[in-house]
Formats: sequence, C-alpha cells, structure tokens
Amino acid sequence: MMKPMIEERFIQPEAHEDDAKEPSLRPQSLEAFIGQERVKRNLSVCISAAKKRQESLDHLLLYGPPGLGKTTLSRIVSEEMQVDLKITSGPAIERAGDLAAILSNLSKGDVLFIDEIHRLNRVVEEVLYPAMEDFYLDIVIGKGPAARSIRLDLEPFSLVGATTRVGLLSAPLRDRFGLIERMDYYQPEDLKTIICRSAQVLDIGISEEAALILAERSRGTPRLANRLLKRVRDWAQIKGNGFVDQHIIDEALVSVGVDSLGLDDVDRSYLSCIIERFNGGPVGVETLAASISEDVSTIEDVYEPFLLQKGFIQRTPRGRVATAGAYQHLGFDTSHLKDECVQSLFKEGL
Ligand code: ADP
Repeated sequence: MMKPMIEERFIQPEAHEDDAKEPSLRPQSLEAFIGQERVKRNLSVCISAAKKRQESLDHLLLYGPPGLGKTTLSRIVSEEMQVDLKITSGPAIERAGDLAAILSNLSKGDVLFIDEIHRLNRVVEEVLYPAMEDFYLDIVIGKGPAARSIRLDLEPFSLVGATTRVGLLSAPLRDRFGLIERMDYYQPEDLKTIICRSAQVLDIGISEEAALILAERSRGTPRLANRLLKRVRDWAQIKGNGFVDQHIIDEALVSVGVDSLGLDDVDRSYLSCIIERFNGGPVGVETLAASISEDVSTIEDVYEPFLLQKGFIQRTPRGRVATAGAYQHLGFDTSHLKDECVQSLFKEGL
C-alpha cells in the first residue's frame, strides 16, 4: 500500500503556511471566543480574581488536539490581563540559558506561552520549576570546583503551557500549574458560528445552512474550518457567482479529498486497513503502524483522536477495532458484524 503523506494532508490540524496569509481570524477577547464554555468560564473567574488582587494570573495548562484555540486563548489572556505576550515552544528552548534569557526579559505580569510544552528537555524543565513556583532562577556560574550558583529574582509572570499530549508531561511540571484545562473538539453549531464570523471578516458570502454543512466537515477544529472556508471561497469565485452554497462546498471538498463527515484519504486508508487486512480488528497499534508504514505516535496523535470521537474505531485492550459505523461509512458489508462484535466483546470479557 502506498504510504499516504501526512505532511500533504489538507486537513492536517497543525498550522499551514497559508493559514497566516489572511487578515487575522483570531478572536481578540474571551467574549468573542466561541465555544469551550467551561474553559472560558474558569478563565474568566481566574482573570477577574487576579486583576482584583493585582497579581499575575495562575500558571495555566491547556491541552487537547491542535487547532482548537490554545494559542488564541493565550493571546486573549494577555489582552485581558493587559500585559505583553511572549510566544515560544518546547523544542525551541534547547538549553537552560535560553529559558533563563526569556524569563529574565519578562516584565511584571507578562504571559509566556510555551507550545508543545511536553517537549521541553529535562534540564530546561528543572530551571522552570523554581521560576514557576517562586519566580527565581538558580544560575550556575563557572565549572568544576570553582562553580557556584547564584540566585536571580524574576518578575512575577504567568506561564501558559499548551500540549497535545498531557500524558507525556512530568508530574512535577504538571503540578506547578494552578489551572489545567482540557480543550475539546467543537460542536458543529459552534463551528458554524466561527465560520460565519470568519466569512464576515474575509468578506465571503455564505448562508447559515452552507456554513453548517462546512462545519460538519471540519473535524471539530476551527483552524480547519477556516482553511476549508478559504478553499470554498476560491471555488465560489472561479466556478460560481462568488456565493458559497452546498454545491460549491461539495465540489471544493472533493478536490481536497474530504468527504461528507470530514474524513480524508488517509483516514479512509487507515480504516480500510483495519477492515480488510485485519478483519475489522482487534489489531495492535504497532502492527497497524507497520502495515501502513507510519509511526505509532503519528497514528495515536494525528489519525485516531478524530476517528475515536466520530465513533469509527474503538481502543480495546487487545487493539483497535473498526466499528459498524466505519464499515457503513466506507461502504463495506456489515451483515456479518453483529455476531463477530458480540464474540469479540465476549472474548474481551466485557
Ligand atoms: P492551537 O494553538 O490550539 O493549535 P490556535 O489558537 O492557533 O490553535 O487556533 C487556530 C485558528 O483557529 C486560529 O487562527 C483562530 O483563527 C481559530 N480559532 C481557534 N479557536 C477559535 C474560536 N474559539 N473562535 C474563533 N476562532 C478560533
């Protein structure tokens, strides 16, 4: 089987270069941020309380799949707290000195956003502990017997950490966040609102009905909803009268290989592999990864979260199983399934 190239996926939830070419679609305030009601409510209380006490905001950890608004929320936090924002990422901070330089340049109350915080290396992480807890750095000067440690006080700051893999965060780091919030995939209604707002900013004509259809194909992800909107705009301008309707959406999405539920060729070949080669599963993730020439971590982080959320696969103790919904969506026969599912559940002892 040809390996589908992950980096070529139109629907990849990580930012594309093209995503930044338009006027900013990022909401600027908590009020304008659509969806994620629980996160917004908790943040709003913490921000008001911190402002009242004239303190920096508690360190905040945001976790969940890419493209759901973690960076956007960190910007909003800094706007609401009326402080500056500095953005970096775990892999960009290679040495303890890099982090020391960033931290010592922050002003009182500033927000430091560290994306992919689970990828910080251990040495850097250890410099972060006292900085987060008591706002100081221990710097070692010199080498060997002459080495000595000096303490450098920092201005109080708020760390906003973002991760797609909260399970990879060390316990000591996780424990230093006062606020830990999970970001969930968005409901189609919320994505519809985001699409309508983006259409206004970009001056695109789209009906609410068409916005909902697009929302349903956006994998619960605002970044993708915005990207698909720009693609259908191109089609509306070239093939239609500039207005986005269902027909235009269908044509544009076929051109990028995205189907009626937002699955693309990579998703479909992953599911077909479980169904055709492994009789629907259960199949261990390592075996599956070898069959489609992909890394286990890419399968777990990129392929599966959306398919799990859609109910197309299940993770069982013995491996991945394709559900009846996956068979139906891909047009496979489901008549033999019932007995096998019952048998497999019986074997699992469920
Ligand atoms: P993450 O940091 O989780 O990968 P981002 O914050 O970069 O995601 O968001 C990706 C894009 O999606 C942003 O450019 C923004 O335009 C849009 N977006 C994210 N969340 C929302 C939201 N709740 N309302 C409107 N637009 C959003």
